Amino acid sequence: MVEKKPRKPTSSFIIHASSPPLWYHIPMLIYDLDLPALTNLLQQWDEPAYRAKQVWQGLYQHLYNSPDEFTNLPKPLREKLAERLGFSPIKVKLFQDSSDGQTRKTLFELYDGHLIEAVLMRYDPNTNSGKGRRTLCISTQAGCAMGCVFCATGQMGFNRHLTSGEIIAQVMYYARALKEEGLAVTNIVFMGMGEPFHNYENTMSAIDTLNDPDGYSFGARRFTISTVGLVPQIKKFADEQRQVNLAISLHAADDAERLEIMPVNKRYKIDDVIQACRYYVEKTHRRVTFEWALISGVNDTPEVARRLASRLKGLLCHVNAIPLNPTEGYHGEATDRQRAIAFKEILEQSGIECTIRMRRGIDINAGCGQLAGVSLK
Ligand code: SAH
Ligand code: SF4
Repeated sequence: MVEKKPRKPTSSFIIHASSPPLWYHIPMLIYDLDLPALTNLLQQWDEPAYRAKQVWQGLYQHLYNSPDEFTNLPKPLREKLAERLGFSPIKVKLFQDSSDGQTRKTLFELYDGHLIEAVLMRYDPNTNSGKGRRTLCISTQAGCAMGCVFCATGQMGFNRHLTSGEIIAQVMYYARALKEEGLAVTNIVFMGMGEPFHNYENTMSAIDTLNDPDGYSFGARRFTISTVGLVPQIKKFADEQRQVNLAISLHAADDAERLEIMPVNKRYKIDDVIQACRYYVEKTHRRVTFEWALISGVNDTPEVARRLASRLKGLLCHVNAIPLNPTEGYHGEATDRQRAIAFKEILEQSGIECTIRMRRGIDINAGCGQLAGVSLK
């Protein structure tokens, strides 16, 4: 058997640090290690082979947060873990609950001062669509380089990629909070700050760790990656044949119109994105979701709906339409209910499934990047 090479900790802290070179006193982050890398490290420390699994299970099954909690490990090893590895990569800077108590948004500070957000949305078990879901929306980058004009994260620009450990830490934070209520996260969506396919390796590595059956064991089908539509990565993702759900932020059915709100369209045209999606469906037999932020008078007209329907014809897909969340840096307004329903009906008459989503947590700036935007001011 070929031994799996231990993975280097995903993107080291030095690479994207924009602030002072703090790296020399930042210990390696324990969540950045996958199981082979952790095993290798403990072997180097002359620990018996079973230790790695004990540490892994402590982290991802028992959700231990600090070396002191690993009471099944000998004290010297706990001390060594504390000394050499970082356990708290994200600090809570602020949190806000929506007035109905169903949505909590947390703003975290990273070791170098950058801010990211994660949002927990609870869905009422008594509603048909809810079924007691607890969906966690997490970030993959501090800021975003894609510059979509309607998006608060896009408006703030790109700071840096998150390491896989910083992505995982957001999940662990909420997993621990819910555990206190006897609950767990049921779905994870990569729809917080950043473009997950721009930080492809670290995002996949976080998914692999969270998916590990000996660890957190979070089912692949309960993850959803949302991308602005980076074509090479969509194809790569298709080739990997993961069971993870894929959502594409389309928001326009005409190249010139898309370019006005999404600079990425200069690089990847709508046809190329849809072709990549057809490839994805062929490879995986999984349905693609198209995200559509309904902007009044911009992309919510019957004509746009008809054009969209003709572009998506024959593709195994679903359209997720959500009225625009207002942001300070963009003058567009949300589509009203009546127009949203008319849009949906045109798609459905053409055989394209469409759901209109409610906006969650508007009163706590729960749109992508909005709380960080407010806090930075
Ligand atoms: N970068 C990825 C994932 C993060 S954004 C992507 O763009 O898909 C998650 C979703 O929120 C995307 O569909 C994005 O287009 C949408 N979004 C961003 N700002 C929004 C706003 N102001 N109102 C409604 N949806 C928004
Ligand atoms: Fe980035 Fe997504 Fe926001 Fe576009 S919508 S700027 S890709 S986070």
